[in-house]
Order: sequence, then structure tokens, then C-alpha cells
Amino acid sequence: MKLSPNTNPPEPDDLLIRLHNQTGAAVDVTGTDGSFSCPWRCHGCGEISASGDYLEYTRQRANDHATLCRASYHRLG
Ligand SMILES: [Zn+2]
Repeated sequence: MKLSPNTNPPEPDDLLIRLHNQTGAAVDVTGTDGSFSCPWRCHGCGEISASGDYLEYTRQRANDHATLCRASYHRLG
């Protein structure tokens, strides 16, 4: 497992949950708990949720993505 600043950046201030995909790349759920504003972003493949949602739904989708994602692309912006 190779970790890098690109796949494991510093935790953002609004980080709620950090999951890791199959290669160890961070999948971050951010936003404010209790609001309809929690998106997720994968630092392995660059996928970003289409919109924010309540944490309980975003958490499940982010976890589903982390479980399946094998990417660790190191030059995503
Ligand atoms: Zn991914």
C-alpha cells in the first residue's frame, strides 16, 4: 500500500468521516452533521458525489465506493 500526499491529503476542517479505499486512498465525507450538505470525495479515483446529502446516506455511499474502488491515482488536482 502506497500512501502519498495526493491520496491522503491533510484532513479538511469540515471532515466528518475518512474512509480508505482498497489501496489506502482517502475517501472523505465532509460537511455539517445534521444538514443536507454532506458530500463525499475519493482521493484515489477523483470521483465526487453528485450532490450533498444527509450524513447517514452519504456515509453508506462513501463506504460502498471505498469498498469497491482500487484506484490510487497520484496526480489528481
Ligand atoms: Zn474512488
